[in-house]
Amino acid sequence: MEPGWDLTQAQWRARLSPAAFAVLREHGTEPPFSSPLDHETHAGVYDCAGCALALFSSKTKFDSGTGWPSFYAPIPHAIDTSADYSILEPRTEVHCHRCGGHLGHVFDDGPKPTGLRYCINGLALTFKPES
Ligand code: FE
Repeated sequence: MEPGWDLTQAQWRARLSPAAFAVLREHGTEPPFSSPLDHETHAGVYDCAGCALALFSSKTKFDSGTGWPSFYAPIPHAIDTSADYSILEPRTEVHCHRCGGHLGHVFDDGPKPTGLRYCINGLALTFKPES
């Protein structure tokens, strides 16, 4: 997390919709196939819904069939990872480098060239179409 972004839960609650707060600040997961961004195919950039940092390019987006927006790579230095033991099988959690917001998880069953699948909650993203 970068300096200036260590906001309190009350401050985050005031900035975010209840649904985005649940994902970004309480590690929630949106229902699959619920996000319009799952089927977004236009060229552009996906920003963090918490702090507007550019996280993913549409160039790395693919249809994983999982019901969550999926990417094979983040924009360099935009995200951090940590171990998540909240379910029996350990997973790698993905969060925003700047505000620490929870975005989703990364798995190793993605397509080329990275073989990674960043499974991201649409509620954690804001899509900015290329102009
Ligand atoms: Fe952020």
